[in-house]
Amino acid sequence: MNSNKKINKTEAEWKQVLSDEVFHILREKGTERAFTGEYDKHFEAGTYLCAGCDTALFESNQKFDSHCGWPAFDKGKNGAVDEHVDKSFGMIRTEITCNTCGGHLGHVFNDGPTKTGLRYCINSLSLKFVPKA
Ligand code: FE
Repeated sequence: MNSNKKINKTEAEWKQVLSDEVFHILREKGTERAFTGEYDKHFEAGTYLCAGCDTALFESNQKFDSHCGWPAFDKGKNGAVDEHVDKSFGMIRTEITCNTCGGHLGHVFNDGPTKTGLRYCINSLSLKFVPKA
């Protein structure tokens, strides 16, 4: 994890401010069970913020119904997310993290149905939705 993050809390500090389930996703790279997340079938207009640091990460017009069980976006807000090679679980995937706090969000795949060709598969628990004013 890169050290120029704007927010650099210790894991103990994160533990104090996040619920156990959000801590597990953001700080321990957990994955919520498919089809259980709050935002999987959520298509209101608004912005999705990082559940750790409130940085705006995705807009509702970047979201699509992936049928994969997690919220999916075809793009992130410019510069908001970082990519890392993830070789865990015997797969090679691209992990997505919040560029501000380093929190784990999910993975990005090259099988998206829209023009970008990308599918950002993101845990609902790593996001906080703010409806459009
Ligand atoms: Fe963050």
